[in-house]
Amino acid sequence: MTLTVASIEGRRLDHFIGGRRTAPHSGQYLQSFDPTTGAPWYEAADGDAADIDAAVRVAQAASMDPAWRRITQTDRGRLVRRLAELVAREADALALMEMRDNGKLLREMQAQLKAMPDAYHYFAGMADKLQGDTIPVNKLDMLNFTLREPIGVVGMITPWNSPLMLLTGTLAPCLAIGNTVVIKPSEHTSASTLALAELVKEAGFPDGVVNVVTGHGRTAGEALTRHPGVAKIVFTGSTATGRRIAANAAGNLVPCQMELGGKSPHVVFDDVDLDRAVNGVMAGVFAAGGQTCIAGSRCFVEAGIYDTFVERLVDRARRVRIGHPAQEDTELGPLALAAQLEKVETYVGYGVADGATIATGGRRPQDGELAAGWYYEPTVLVDAKNDMRFMRDEIFGPVVGVMPFRGEDELIRLANDTRYGLAAGIWTRDIDRAMRFARNVDAGTVWINTYRSAAFMSPSGGFKESGYGRRGGFEVMREFSRLKNVVVDYSGATQDPFVIRLR
Ligand code: NDP
Repeated sequence: MTLTVASIEGRRLDHFIGGRRTAPHSGQYLQSFDPTTGAPWYEAADGDAADIDAAVRVAQAASMDPAWRRITQTDRGRLVRRLAELVAREADALALMEMRDNGKLLREMQAQLKAMPDAYHYFAGMADKLQGDTIPVNKLDMLNFTLREPIGVVGMITPWNSPLMLLTGTLAPCLAIGNTVVIKPSEHTSASTLALAELVKEAGFPDGVVNVVTGHGRTAGEALTRHPGVAKIVFTGSTATGRRIAANAAGNLVPCQMELGGKSPHVVFDDVDLDRAVNGVMAGVFAAGGQTCIAGSRCFVEAGIYDTFVERLVDRARRVRIGHPAQEDTELGPLALAAQLEKVETYVGYGVADGATIATGGRRPQDGELAAGWYYEPTVLVDAKNDMRFMRDEIFGPVVGVMPFRGEDELIRLANDTRYGLAAGIWTRDIDRAMRFARNVDAGTVWINTYRSAAFMSPSGGFKESGYGRRGGFEVMREFSRLKNVVVDYSGATQDPFVIRLR
């Protein structure tokens, strides 16, 4: 892999189209910043509609090229396995690159990268297991069956919070099926996706199967979602952008897979081991600085233990070690973007204005080196209510609103009182109660006595404004293949052309 943190520092990175580094049509580049210092550290090609058009055309050609179209599914699986091995070989370098771009803890990015090869292996194993059905129809001498085929060019728009991990859940199955892709990574985190494209080439995939166009969402991203050569759009990001992308795709009657925002309820009943529940709630909202779509940002605590729970949560939140993401003992790094920091500050301000109280946090750390970076203290707001702005909108930062509830009916009403439906968590020893919650809550994933436990074998995705479509598990193989029905008449009979055969 030629792209590493050391090799790209201070350099310009081009697109990756048709297996080659390709300079942007406009000649323009955009800066990528280090969140720990706020200083730029490399530049990435600033793609526009012409670059997207070039990439989509190359991907279309690759999807028709016998070098990709005419290889067996077993060989496709073999290529995906080879890619898994290369990702494993470069896991540390890729993790460091992502940390440098988005400021998340090095050990978290390492954990993601170390798990990633398994995801590629998992989907590689499915390459030769995607099969159609034989359909028994009410006709003699007829064979009626279905085929699963690649759909063509898939456009993928990825966010900055976990760039490669969020890409893998759809890229791996797309490659296993035989699709081709054009990826537009977030303008803030271009490097690791470009590095991955190099690994795809090294693995032996034909040129043009995976293409990367970097640049802004409003230009390159927008062009990708409007391009008539794209057969499906995958988007992970905010609900507002998702709505716009779905409208663009609808113009071409192109389906989308949308993984959007969340405002997930995280519930604590009074029968729990408090330390376990406090750690669970902490992990749910402060891990990754709250910059995850599944953050458990609305915490509902049974009234009888509310004060005790808040006391423990605040005590633990105050002891969180904020620091450079590469340091072993750091628990909370900076936010990824200056704009993200401003958003967090704005919403904490809304919380106070709307009547909530800051129990801890609510400010940037002032000491030493931290003052220069985009850091923010873990923040607990009590006296929260669902109609407050900070409880309604996704903040994507280390902020949790806590409120008491009395009884399961009130809990379900409060938990579902949101336009989102991505995830939910519950801590209780009563399995009947936990199951009732799981059945009644509007969430694509429900965690019982755990939180943020993700697996690429599980179908993940949202309800309501959190999106649609699923990634993970075998389901995704169906989402990224198209179903064709084939009907064969082997009777040998010559039919009257104007008789309709009902049997
Ligand atoms: P966006 O939804 O704006 O961006 C996500 C991706 O979409 C990026 O690659 C972005 O490119 C691209 N994009 C932006 N506008 C368009 C467009 N019109 N057409 C096509 N692509 C576009 O999220 P932000 O990065 O601005 O973050 C804002 C908020 O989104 C966060 O505060 C958080 O609430 C939410 N979010 C949710 C994520 C999740 O995992 N569900 C992930 C990231 C963000 P570019 O980076 O160049 O703008």
